[in-house]
Amino acid sequence: MTYDCVIVGGGPAGLSAAVYMGRFRRTTLLIDSGEGRWVYGQHNENYLGFPKGISARRLRALGVAQAERFGVVPHQGRVEQIDLLSGQEGFTLATTSGKVVARTVIWAAGVRDRWPTFQGARRLIGKQLFWCIVCDGWRTLDREILLLGNSDAAAEDALQFLTYTSRVTLLVEPGKDELSLRARRKLQVGGIRVLAGTVRRVQLKGQEIEKVFLISGEALSADLIFSLYGAEPNTELLRHLPIRLTQRGMIHIDPKHHTTLAHFYAAGDVTDHHSQQVAAAVYSGAQAAQAANYALYPPRQQLTAKRG
Ligand SMILES: Cc1cc2nc3c(=O)[nH]c(=O)nc-3n(C[C@H](O)[C@H](O)[C@H](O)COP(=O)(O)OP(=O)(O)OC[C@H]3O[C@@H](n4cnc5c(N)ncnc54)[C@H](O)[C@@H]3O)c2cc1C
Repeated sequence: MTYDCVIVGGGPAGLSAAVYMGRFRRTTLLIDSGEGRWVYGQHNENYLGFPKGISARRLRALGVAQAERFGVVPHQGRVEQIDLLSGQEGFTLATTSGKVVARTVIWAAGVRDRWPTFQGARRLIGKQLFWCIVCDGWRTLDREILLLGNSDAAAEDALQFLTYTSRVTLLVEPGKDELSLRARRKLQVGGIRVLAGTVRRVQLKGQEIEKVFLISGEALSADLIFSLYGAEPNTELLRHLPIRLTQRGMIHIDPKHHTTLAHFYAAGDVTDHHSQQVAAAVYSGAQAAQAANYALYPPRQQLTAKRG
């Protein structure tokens, strides 16, 4: 089947795009592999309209219901390859459930966080283990925090956490330390303890962290842990296409969410807008959908020059 639009990724960016495309009366396939940033146990407290916060999974379920109302049903699956259609505008996408053809594509595939690899780490994500000061800095108010990171970017986050708490430890992995002398000095002036070590396990008491054990055998106390190892964008499948990516592999988009490839749009965390927030992803999906919709109008419905 040929779709007006295939949206790759069913997080907040892809779902927002799906609601718009459905309401634009475009035949739309939303395909999602169910592994994005929305899958963990976190409670989003900064998304407008939910004064008590809302769990990321619940917000997604509401988004799915909203997209379904306008005729777009999220399809569980993975896009494994994407190519230009030969001889005409459009794309073929090989998915885990077969091939589809798309006149336009919105790539909203998000990123993969580099979480610590100690046993049981995944269970803690969104509860005791976080990655983002914008999302969860507020939770650290006057609490003791352990930051896991090796770079100056992690050091900068550590300095910013001083807005919330003075009890900050940065744990740098032995052999992976990339902290500059300048960063070390600033951390020292800020009263931030820098230790070398790798977490082996985290012991909980109920929902609270009791102790963090390092491979060395040392035990640290912490109320919350933040992983500051960064993330990889899901753009490997795009490398053979004429789509401009940044050095980090993020998709370059213009303010209207066009990429450098006609009829191919991108939205959310995977773009070089770097906003990495639900609100920004929702906005981004809406923008990409409007750009894709515009390209789908036939000439008889357009007055101005068409832009992919
Ligand atoms: C622990 C945690 C706490 C957070 N807290 C907050 C918060 O409080 N407030 C806030 O605003 N933000 C928060 N965020 C960030 C927020 O979740 C992200 O910014 C948001 O989910 C990005 O939306 P997205 O749609 O761009 O990407 P994602 O939500 O990551 O969705 C991308 C989707 O694409 C799918 N996908 C990838 N590749 C393929 C493929 N080849 N084929 C098919 N599907 C594919 C993935 O499975 C995934 O479902 C948090 C994130 C985490 C991890």
